[in-house]
Amino acid sequence: MAKELAKFEDWPYKVPHIKSIVKKINALSDEFKASKSGEEAYKAYKKMSRYEDKIGDDITHIQVLYSLDTTNKKYEKAEEMLNEGLPLVSAATLNFAKAFVSSPYRDYLEKKLGSFIFTMYEYQLKGFDEKIIPEATEENSLVMKYDSALASCRIPFRGNVYNLPQMGKFLNDSDREVRKEARDAYDTYMNSRHDEFEEIYDKLVKVRTKMAQKLGYKSYTDLAYIKMNRFDYTPEMVASYREQIHDVVTPLAEKLMKEQFKYAGIKNPKLYDLGFKFKSGNPIPLGTTDEKVEHAKEMYKKLSPDTDYFFNFMADHHLLFLDAKPGKQSGGYMTYFPVHKCPIIFSNFNGTAGDVDVLTHEFGHSFQAYLARNIKVPEYRSPTMESCEIDSMSMEFFAEPYMDLFFDVPDKYKYAHLADSIEFLPYGVTVDEFQHWVYANPNATPEERDAEWNALEQKYTPYKVKAREALPWKSYPRWLTQAHIFDSPFYYIDYTLAQVLAFEFFNLDRKNHEKAWKKYVKLCKMGGKYPFVSLITKDGLKSPFEPGVLKKTINPLVKVLKGYHAENF
Ligand SMILES: [Zn+2]
Repeated sequence: MAKELAKFEDWPYKVPHIKSIVKKINALSDEFKASKSGEEAYKAYKKMSRYEDKIGDDITHIQVLYSLDTTNKKYEKAEEMLNEGLPLVSAATLNFAKAFVSSPYRDYLEKKLGSFIFTMYEYQLKGFDEKIIPEATEENSLVMKYDSALASCRIPFRGNVYNLPQMGKFLNDSDREVRKEARDAYDTYMNSRHDEFEEIYDKLVKVRTKMAQKLGYKSYTDLAYIKMNRFDYTPEMVASYREQIHDVVTPLAEKLMKEQFKYAGIKNPKLYDLGFKFKSGNPIPLGTTDEKVEHAKEMYKKLSPDTDYFFNFMADHHLLFLDAKPGKQSGGYMTYFPVHKCPIIFSNFNGTAGDVDVLTHEFGHSFQAYLARNIKVPEYRSPTMESCEIDSMSMEFFAEPYMDLFFDVPDKYKYAHLADSIEFLPYGVTVDEFQHWVYANPNATPEERDAEWNALEQKYTPYKVKAREALPWKSYPRWLTQAHIFDSPFYYIDYTLAQVLAFEFFNLDRKNHEKAWKKYVKLCKMGGKYPFVSLITKDGLKSPFEPGVLKKTINPLVKVLKGYHAENF
């Protein structure tokens, strides 16, 4: 990491020129193809890597600036230009990938770079081809349309208007009347935009299916598994994992919900009560955003010298974008700048405990990127998506012993965090199974899709359906605001797999902190040198796909929850 790194706002803003990028990539591919020895091929590969880092850095810069202010015309134009141009860049890198995997110097390159990089490039080739550029372009612009539609949501509530993240606070307010009114306002508004969202999704499903067919796949699901780099697990393994969640976690989640309603004194629970856990209200973090950052500094100082150094580094260089603002995209993410060699954290603080979750979560991602920054082969720096989420979700749990810095009653937060994480699993697999169904039935009507969503909610979270049906008004179908379903298809089971591994870390941490932290750092440092199942196995973790692992991991958590005595909150 360069010590002299400028503060984020002082980074020069440059809109890359797509045609010149394509030209340069083609020239570098030609250079690779013309190499006369293994060493020459290796050098040409390195040159390409460096160039990809450079354009990756520029592109990420635009994407971040745009997500921070979607109303800025300059950024909007640049983002649009990128969305149109990026498929051309992908096509050009694909030509390089083709040359790379068929290089006569493959043996030499494997010696230098390992063999996994070849599998990666082979997947890239299987997942894209020039002939799907028109569809890929259309997909990008539909996703952009959805994102800005979501960011443009303005919900009138009690004389003011709020965007979706800002509504979170009222939806979980300790006053039941506020929750009810907020949910009513939310549903009424979202229902008014229902057809618009459905239409975008319908187009997305069709264009993705067309892409898959053009590439020779039976359905988009097969293509998506390749695009998601699922090197060592299959839809069948995922399906049986979902059944494990159904068998082990659904009944537990239902039991927890019932207990929570009892403790909170709620009879006849309605949908707007689901996020409300305690009579005394949900845990609310102390202080302003700046104060939360100060608390986080203290926490990371206590956790380890590395976390101490790196969190301060991020704060000092203005790499934390935490508050919700009008025009800002919703959600939270971390993204990495390969040339600046640092990440940024994007979130929408809204005064709920979610602020602490998102900060520790995204810092987990950031910390992984920091620990793996010196891996020489860029392709190995970051693991595949589900492995990335282990780093972030486990960090949420490693932060737990320091929650007295953020909360008056830290055990209340810890209970809520753990219970929420358990209750998340059935929701996560609902989102996943829904998508498997959608792409197996690409011609389904919006009504059929909503009906399937209902059926899956009934299977995995029957208590939600009951609470939803108890509303005096019609609630909008939840999946329409689950952005991943639109913009990152099939990227959701990843959270649930990672959640189970984060529970493994939590169990280990409670037994032996030093050992657990060492294991965590080792995992982060391995980056993406191995695919998911191999990576966790190499770190001595158990695979959630193995029968019985889920039950073994979840069981100790029930005891931990009991120990918090939620009945007293
Ligand atoms: Zn994450």
